[in-house]
Amino acid sequence: MSTGHGSGALDADVLVVGGGPVGLAAAIEASAAGFGVLVVEQRSGPIDKACGEGLMPGALAALHRLGVDPVGHDFHGIAYVSATQRVEHRFDGDVGRGVRRTVLHAAMADRVAELRIPVLRGRVGALTQGDGRVRVDWEGGGASAAWVIAADGLHSTVRRLVGCERPPVRAAKRRFGIRRHFEVAPWNDLVEVHWTPDVEAYVTPVDAGSVGVALLGPPHVDFDEALARIPELSRRLAGAAALSSTRGAGPLRQRTTRRVAGRVLLAGDASGYVDALTGEGLRVGFAQARSAVHSIADGDPSRYERAWSRDTRDFRILTSALVAAARSPLRERIVPAAVASPALFGRIVDRLAR
Ligand SMILES: Cc1cc2nc3c(=O)[nH]c(=O)nc-3n(C[C@H](O)[C@H](O)[C@H](O)COP(=O)(O)OP(=O)(O)OC[C@H]3O[C@@H](n4cnc5c(N)ncnc54)[C@H](O)[C@@H]3O)c2cc1C
Repeated sequence: MSTGHGSGALDADVLVVGGGPVGLAAAIEASAAGFGVLVVEQRSGPIDKACGEGLMPGALAALHRLGVDPVGHDFHGIAYVSATQRVEHRFDGDVGRGVRRTVLHAAMADRVAELRIPVLRGRVGALTQGDGRVRVDWEGGGASAAWVIAADGLHSTVRRLVGCERPPVRAAKRRFGIRRHFEVAPWNDLVEVHWTPDVEAYVTPVDAGSVGVALLGPPHVDFDEALARIPELSRRLAGAAALSSTRGAGPLRQRTTRRVAGRVLLAGDASGYVDALTGEGLRVGFAQARSAVHSIADGDPSRYERAWSRDTRDFRILTSALVAAARSPLRERIVPAAVASPALFGRIVDRLAR
C-alpha cells in the first residue's frame, strides 16, 4: 500500500493530522507497519513548543526504537526542591535526556524524510467520514484516507470536529506553563523541580551550555517575578543570557469523551492531557502513537480505546492526584512528604519514567 495521487486527489492509508512529536511518531510507526502515510502540519519546522523538554527514560527508549536519537543532555533522575528541603531520586539504571524541542523536531523530521513520508503544509479545518474513508481538508488542499490519527495538540481541531471534546475545566482550576532557556552550564545531572507557594519551576539540562526553565501554575504568571521568588534558582541563573523568548501553553487540562470516532483516532495531547507536573507527556504520547497504529493494523479501532486507557493510566491517576494536592492546602507538605518517604517518592518517579 502506498500514498498516491488517485484521481488527482491525495490518498493515504493513514493520514496524520499534526506533525508534532506524537504525530511524527505515529507516521513512523504506520510506515513501519507497511501503511502509506501522509502528515499534514500547519507550521514549518523545526517546530518549537513550550515544554519542560525532559524525555523520560521511556520516551527516550521509544524514540530509539523509532530510529531517532536526538542530541541533548542526559539526566539521571528527578529532584524536588523547596526553600528549605531537597530530595532526589536517581533512575534505576535508566537515563532520560533533556532535548530542545526544535532539536527533537528536527531529528524526528529527518527520520520521517528518510522514510519518504510526505509532510504537507496546511491547517486542517474540515473532516468528513463515509464509505470507509475519511476526507480531510485544509485551505488550498485536501486528502482522503482509510484512517486518520489526530495528533494536533492540546487545542485539537479534529477532536472538536469529531465531537470528542469535553467542556473545559473551571477557570479556577486551569493551569498553564511557560518556558525560557538560559545560557548556563547545567549544575547537576537531574531534572530539578523547585516548589514555591504558587508555581513549580522545572529546570532541565538541554546541552552542555544551557538549561530550560519551565514554570507551571495559574494563568498570568510573570516569568521574571516568579523566578525572582526562588532564591536558589535566581542565584544559579544570575547573569545568564536568555537563549529563547518566553513561550507559553495552556490551559493544560484537556478532556475527551472518547478517543475513537469512526475511523479517526486521537493521540498525544489531542486525546486528553492532565498536566506537565510529572513530565511524561511525550512518553505517554509515543505509547499512544504505537497503540493507535497497532489497532489500525488489526482493523479494530476499539482496541485503541482499551490501549489508550492502559497507556495513560499512571498519568491519569498519579498526575491527577499530585495536581489535586498541589492545588490544595496540602501543597506545602509535598516536598516534606517526599523527603520523609524517599522510597515512595522514588517508586512514583520510576513508575512515571518507564
Ligand atoms: C510547560 C510544559 C512543560 C512540559 N514538559 C514536558 C516534559 O518535560 N516532558 C514531556 O515528556 N512532556 C512535557 N510536556 C508535554 C509535552 O510538551 C506534550 O505532551 C507534547 O508536546 C505532545 O505532543 P503532540 O505531538 O501531541 O502535540 P504538539 O507538540 O502540540 O504538536 C501538535 C502539532 O499539531 C499541529 N497542529 C495543530 N492544529 C493543527 C491543524 N488544525 N492542522 C494541522 N496541524 C495542526 C501543531 O502545529 C503542532 O505541530 C510539557 C508541556 C508543557 C505545556
